[in-house]
This record gives sequence, structure tokens and C-alpha cells, in this order.
Amino acid sequence: MASGRIFNFSAGPSMLPVEILEQAQADVINWHGTGMSVMEMSHRSKPFESIHKKCIQDLRDLLNIPPNFKVLLMQGGGSTQFACVPLNLLKDKETANYLTTGAWSTKAIEEARKYCRAHEVATSKSTNFTTIPDPSTWNVDPNGAYFHYCANETIHGVEFTLTQEMLDRIGEVPIVADMSSNFLSKPIDFSKHAVVYAGAQKNAGPAGVTFVIAREDMLGHAKNITPTMLDWKTQADNDSMYNTPPCYAIYICGLYFDYMKRHGGIEAVQELDRQKAAILYDLFDSSNGFYTNPVNPQYRSKMNVPFLIKGGNVDLEKKFLAEAEAVGLSTLAGHRSVGGLRASIYNGMPLEGVRRLADFMTEFKTKHEA
Ligand code: PLP
Repeated sequence: MASGRIFNFSAGPSMLPVEILEQAQADVINWHGTGMSVMEMSHRSKPFESIHKKCIQDLRDLLNIPPNFKVLLMQGGGSTQFACVPLNLLKDKETANYLTTGAWSTKAIEEARKYCRAHEVATSKSTNFTTIPDPSTWNVDPNGAYFHYCANETIHGVEFTLTQEMLDRIGEVPIVADMSSNFLSKPIDFSKHAVVYAGAQKNAGPAGVTFVIAREDMLGHAKNITPTMLDWKTQADNDSMYNTPPCYAIYICGLYFDYMKRHGGIEAVQELDRQKAAILYDLFDSSNGFYTNPVNPQYRSKMNVPFLIKGGNVDLEKKFLAEAEAVGLSTLAGHRSVGGLRASIYNGMPLEGVRRLADFMTEFKTKHEA
């Protein structure tokens, strides 16, 4: 670890490999002999065009994105896509399907209600969002314009991939996934998805750029009221340069994609993420209830790991946070809406950080177990 750096377990923005930060530092005043920083470059200039193109191509390579999908670099985060999805996909339909599995998919359905009859296929609210509703209970409207789900609930720590049983329930309805918080942590099966979207600030780079990966037949159907900037086709037709893009954020994401390609790609990241998550969940499960994670083990997130101490002892949690912060293990509080603790262990979190956290947790338990 570079000197003075801490391990930042924030749910996003989150850590980036030091190599990337050093590269950005080396480039900051004079990028590749251009005499200027990427921050100062016209987005229409040849140097930036090369950065932009390589960023998209590297992402395509990493995720093996099929040629009939467009990669759009947008702004406004996942939250703006909550509106873009109905605006672009409803066509002449009035209904869309939503699966509710936590805070973020709840926000998505609430936004959709402004534009359509958002039909809730199923919800796990009665379990405090600790599981995925049993697919046999999913009530998908086959006439709905699309089916929307959140692949990883950042606040509740619930993650899943679509099983055959789920796909059978969804049928022919186009599938849209919010992958904001597990994008680039594992392969994406594009044969099952019509649109995937994710902000960059968890696994890909700084906040400011949002990736929308949309099958071509999903473009060109935006409602008349759709703001020009939110029409996916505007972005596709203009190579995501309809207006000034978030150039610097795109540049840093590009550095990260290049880094990933040189370090074993998605498979390497997936394996590392598996190891990191296993360290924490194994520790909880062997802690005799000192640390608990409320999520159905089948759906435990590999990205966001919520936990309680002694079933939710607030005093011990406060102590834990203060002592952890003092040894460079930072931002471990749970989301304000759910409390408790949470370790977000995105791609940029090194194995060493999770090991240090686990050692700290073991020591903390020894001190406070009695
Ligand atoms: N969806 C999920 C799963 C998220 O975790 C977040 C943010 O944390 C969002 C959507 C909203 O993203 P943004 O803050 O980029 O609008």
C-alpha cells in the first residue's frame, strides 16, 4: 500500500488501484506530449477522441459485448437511468414490470411511476430486503414494455443473477438491469439482457460517467417528451458526444479498463472478488453470532457486505467504527437508512485490505465477546 493511503470501504465512490492514480498523476500536466491535461482538452480533439474510443473498445473487450449492443457514455448516474428506462422503452405501452429487492429497485419503480403503470412483479420488503422473492411467485405482465431488476442492492447487500426459472417467468419481455454496484465484477450474459446500466463510481472509476449498454432494437423509441440528452438514440447517433462528455472521468475509466486487461480481465477480478467476500462471510459464520449478516446466504453480495455486531449493539458498533478508522479501515458504517455496518469491497479494494479488516474484526471480537 502506498504511504498514507487507507483502506476505504465506502459504497462509492470507492478505491482505485494506486497504479492508476499514479498514472493519472504522471499525465496530469502534460498528457502524452500534448502539452495539456486531459481536463483541458477539447472533447472534439484528436487526443481525446483516441481516449474515448479506446475506453469504449476496452470495455467491449472486457465484457465481450456483442456487436448489436451500443455502449453509451452518459451523465446523471444510475438515478437518471431510472427515468431513461421508461422514457426510452415504453413505446406505446402503459405498463412496465419491476422487481423490488431493496432500496435501489424501490427508487427505480418510484421514478417509473411518473411515466407509466409500474407493475410490481414481486417484492422482498416483508423480509427487510434480505432475500430475492421466490421466482415461482413472480407475476410478470407479458404485455409490459420491459422487466427491470437490480442485480446488486448496494444498501441491503443482496445480489443475484437470473436463473432459468426466473427467465421462464419473465418470458419474452425485454430485460433491463441496474448493475450500478456490480458492473465489471463478473461477466454479463448479454443474451439475457436488452439494456444494462451502471454508474462508474463503484467498480470502474470516478463518478460522472454512466455506462448504458443497450441492444440496438431498444433505441429509437423514446417518447416525445424525452429530454434530448436522455434519449439513448441521441447518444448512440452522436457517439456519446452530443454535448461535452465528462472527459476526465472517461479518461480515468479508460486507464482502469486498460489495467484490467493487463491483469487478467473479468475472470481475475471475479476470482479476487470471490476470495474477498469469502473471507468476511466465513468470519461471520464462524463468529458464534458475534457478527451476523442478515441476507439469505444464496443471495449474499460479493460487493457490499452488511453486518451487525451482537445482533445490532449500537454502542459496540460505534466503538468498532472509531477503532477501525484509527487503524486506517475507513467508511464502514451501514447506510443511514438501515444502520449497522457495511464493508463495500469493490474491485479496487485489495485483498490485503479485506485481510486487514478481518484481522481487526477477530481482535475486536476477542475483546468484546464476553
Ligand atoms: N443503483 C444502485 C444499485 C446504486 O447503488 C446506486 C448508487 O449507489 C444507484 C443506482 C444510483 O446511482 P447514482 O448515484 O450514480 O445516481
